[in-house]
Amino acid sequence: MTETRSTCPYCGVGCGVVIEAEGARITGVRGDPEHPANFGRLCSKGQTLHLTAAPLVQQQTRLLHPMRRATRGAAPERTDWDSALGLAAQRFGDSIAAHGPDAVGFYVSGQLLTEDYYVFNKLAKGLIGTNNIDTNSRLCMSSAVAGYKLTLGADAPPACYDDVNHADCLFIVGSNAAWAHPVLFRRIEDARRARPGMKLIVADPRRTDTADLADLYLPLQPGTDVMLFHGLLHIMLREGWTDAGYIERHTTGFDALEALVREHTPDRVAQVCGLKPEDLVTAARWFAHGASGDPGKRAATLSLYCQGLNQSSSGTAKNASLINLHLATGQIGKPGAGPFSLTGQPNAMGGREVGGLANLLSAHRDLANPQHRAEVAALWGLPSVPGKPGLTAVELFEAAADGAVKALWIACTNPAQSMPDQRTVRRALQRAEFVVVQEAFATPATCDFADLLLPATTWGEKEGTVTNSERRISRVRAAVPAPGEARHDWRIAVDFANRLRPGNALFPYTTPEAVWLEHRASTRGRDLDISGLSYALLEQQGPQQWPLPEGEATGRARLYEDGRFPTPDGRARFAALPYRPPAEPRESRFPFALTTGRLRDQWHGMSRTGTLGRLFGHVAEPAVQLHPQDMARLALADGELVHVTSKRGSIVLPAQASEQIAPAQAFIAMHWGGEVLSGRSSSGEPLAGVNALTTSAFCPGSKQPELKHAAVQVLKA
Ligand code: SF4
Repeated sequence: MTETRSTCPYCGVGCGVVIEAEGARITGVRGDPEHPANFGRLCSKGQTLHLTAAPLVQQQTRLLHPMRRATRGAAPERTDWDSALGLAAQRFGDSIAAHGPDAVGFYVSGQLLTEDYYVFNKLAKGLIGTNNIDTNSRLCMSSAVAGYKLTLGADAPPACYDDVNHADCLFIVGSNAAWAHPVLFRRIEDARRARPGMKLIVADPRRTDTADLADLYLPLQPGTDVMLFHGLLHIMLREGWTDAGYIERHTTGFDALEALVREHTPDRVAQVCGLKPEDLVTAARWFAHGASGDPGKRAATLSLYCQGLNQSSSGTAKNASLINLHLATGQIGKPGAGPFSLTGQPNAMGGREVGGLANLLSAHRDLANPQHRAEVAALWGLPSVPGKPGLTAVELFEAAADGAVKALWIACTNPAQSMPDQRTVRRALQRAEFVVVQEAFATPATCDFADLLLPATTWGEKEGTVTNSERRISRVRAAVPAPGEARHDWRIAVDFANRLRPGNALFPYTTPEAVWLEHRASTRGRDLDISGLSYALLEQQGPQQWPLPEGEATGRARLYEDGRFPTPDGRARFAALPYRPPAEPRESRFPFALTTGRLRDQWHGMSRTGTLGRLFGHVAEPAVQLHPQDMARLALADGELVHVTSKRGSIVLPAQASEQIAPAQAFIAMHWGGEVLSGRSSSGEPLAGVNALTTSAFCPGSKQPELKHAAVQVLKA
């Protein structure tokens, strides 16, 4: 038996695993006791990883050979790599020659490794000359990116997991960490046991398992987070609980924010958010002063937040307004304090580091900055890189649906299930003249739309790095060889590049480490400088947090301890952004606010977790959760089928009474696909899953769509 250290491929906690293998077969997995993200712990998903790699599961689910469809709707037929890459190069080349480089687009994934991401980004922006490369991280973290950059000057989560052990107050908002980041949540439970005086505030429309543990639960109305944060700041100012010295020394823009929050009185905020004024005062006091509530004592407060803030048409404002609270109270840059965005996917962070979004360039550089473009062009040995902003996720599929984007390359993600407003996404996949899907699995719905299917390696089979929520870079290692004819994602991108432009000198790599070294060189002098890191150091000392510049021995646990920020004047910036309600408010025809989220034991579109019966023990089938009062009003019994309908589509599923949810709200888990949750668009086309209903309205700052709020109607089927 061999043992190989690697990283769990599911969520942004980034737990270390030890993979056990016999020959070419993965036989077991256990938590890596030396990995600082989990110290040996794994959740139900991580513990069963090896079972998803069992031979029978592999046989039934994996894409093992390049496949080609002669016509749309036909069964795919096996082809060889040479023919497949030749066809892809010809069809992409034709589109570029006829319509220019912006006629093609790439939609990649926070599941890709940093090295994969780097090559795809260089392929699109460097070789082809289009910034039309976006990723499902747009659906996950782009509001966190926009919020950090707007206020702190860089896309850098300033805190770390160990801060949980030093916090006097934890403020969890828009996150069901107990289910979505379970191993981190175990750490929170441990910290509370060790320090019973620590206060836990949870703000969430649903009374989740996370909220159940709270000392103070704030069941705010969906989408009202900005109002809540401004209201808390109003109280802090009124009571003298802000840190005037910190504001004076380290920030700018407070006057405008102070003026904005003046009208956010507890009564008004309580009314809009559906909360009690006295609970707002308690939350403000604990945030500013911790458990003692003693104004003379400045305690440490750590905010943990996730998609409840990010997946919103006000995502940037939500993130920035929460960071305002930390700046106003000096709760940043010290143990136990800071705003800390939890990453949904395992490598949404690494993707951002290499510039894998339509508005970014390598090493956190901005596409809009001519100096940054010149730096990247010099790094890549090119005269220039294109400056025209690329199409972000929603825009890319809308452009394909309109016929402007002719060829799409989709890698390691399943937009035919996971993107909002499925009607438009499916129209895009049908209208695009050529669709390549690069996938490890043959089962995702997007494969049905592919002209060409390219088999990729996955967890346990590939080498590279990922970065977790606390900026920690870990190695991902192969325990077994690639099955069938599957190739590594970075390798497929390189092979395609060399077929598209034979003789180009941009992709000289023969190993993922060679790609990573180029990425490392691009970070020198940047906020995420890892010039002092190497694969060898990761091997010897284990996972490391960035930055780790040359000359330093280890990475940095927390940022901004000196009160200096990566802005032109070194000061953090308050953001005075007004509260705006969700893009699609409830109305008489659609009186329920639908929100979506994760289940404890499932992951994304279930292409991996859905292969294991035991992971259905927790929740066996889809349901729409409604408050018992609404069930009674609609004369619904538990399990009775209902139509849930939005302006875009309709699905049929059982109703389930739940005290976790407030009246006039509905919750459906995001994971279920067309096999169990089929529906129709408003014009009758077949659709799948909850995203038949969701809206593609997005935040103007981050372009992240509002997957957490759609107005729906619920009727007995
Ligand atoms: Fe994997 Fe996340 Fe579970 Fe850790 S908490 S084992 S990274 S799914």
